[in-house]
Amino acid sequence: MKGQDSDVHDPLTDPRSEIVDLPRDAPAPNATPWAEGQADPAATVEARARRRFGEGALIVCDNLVKIFKVADLEVVALQGLDLLVDSGEMIAIVGASGSGKSTLLNILGGLDVPSAGRATVAGHDLTQMGRRERTRYRRRTIGFVWQQTAKNLLPYLSAVENVEMPMILNGSADRGRALELLDTVGLVERADHRPDRLSGGEQQRVAVAVALANQPEVLLADEPTGELDTATSAEVFDLMRHVNSELGTTVIIVTHDVLVSEQVQRTVAIRDGRTSSETLRRGRLSDEGEHEIFAEEFAVLDRAGRLQLPRGHVEALGLERRVRLRLEHDHISIWPDVHPDEDR
Ligand code: ADP
Ligand code: MG
Repeated sequence: MKGQDSDVHDPLTDPRSEIVDLPRDAPAPNATPWAEGQADPAATVEARARRRFGEGALIVCDNLVKIFKVADLEVVALQGLDLLVDSGEMIAIVGASGSGKSTLLNILGGLDVPSAGRATVAGHDLTQMGRRERTRYRRRTIGFVWQQTAKNLLPYLSAVENVEMPMILNGSADRGRALELLDTVGLVERADHRPDRLSGGEQQRVAVAVALANQPEVLLADEPTGELDTATSAEVFDLMRHVNSELGTTVIIVTHDVLVSEQVQRTVAIRDGRTSSETLRRGRLSDEGEHEIFAEEFAVLDRAGRLQLPRGHVEALGLERRVRLRLEHDHISIWPDVHPDEDR
């Protein structure tokens, strides 16, 4: 029956369409209002869309792009990265070398500016900040810990002087508070030691105290345990967890360490400059009635509705170029272009 009108398949109007954006029972514009007390589905959709824009989140990265120009070459380090972090969260960021983790952290730390997109941290718009606000932001809103222990501390100052330095720069020198912070990181007895007399792990713990000097809302750490052995890494990581749970500081830690990513509630994986998946760890009761932690990996859906299918899934079904989608009542099915049950 080819060529007849009844066979023209318009996905927007044809009820047989397999690609559907909205629930079919959503009210048409100007239709009878929903009964009182009944949730208006359109309003819910709208509310969800607002939430996805990051309302209420402490950190919002919205379609973040960063392009580095090196001679005639352009390197796209971030290609439309979305990330939301709530106040008080502690998350790990993982990803292959070169995937854009440091670029993201440097932008969040106010050390670099994005080429496009939106980045907001604790109400500061990182794309609009002038020089003065940027300096204040770096001193007060965030604390930064680098992988290279030598980069975190001034070599000619003692541990306590290093911790006090950000307070001095902020116009509020406080030796007592510096000592308290060293106590928090378990190093008060090393207060007078210079960095070269501290072990790598001790230097990173002092670095955490330095980062916390001005009570930042966010602690950013770029592979802080990358140069440490496993046992020492665990100590530094425990300290970060303590900072998160006891001081309520929001913590973002970039790491290669599987042990670290296994101990945070949320691990965000970055692939090719985009967030590709999130692993959530949650508690539940096992069949034997015992509390257990289980992890579940989710694909990340961006605001345009795009998601990255895991490579394994794509290969297993030989998905290529076009796929068929069908909206079921509580999920969406995806088939290869050629559907085995298809009428031919
Ligand atoms: P990661 O921290 O995940 O290893 P980076 O954020 O350091 O990744 O780098 C992401 C990409 O951007 C890489 O291709 C890297 O070579 C490039 N890149 C990072 N910083 C610069 C820079 N300052 N100039 C040019 N290219 C850069
Ligand atoms: Mg890096």
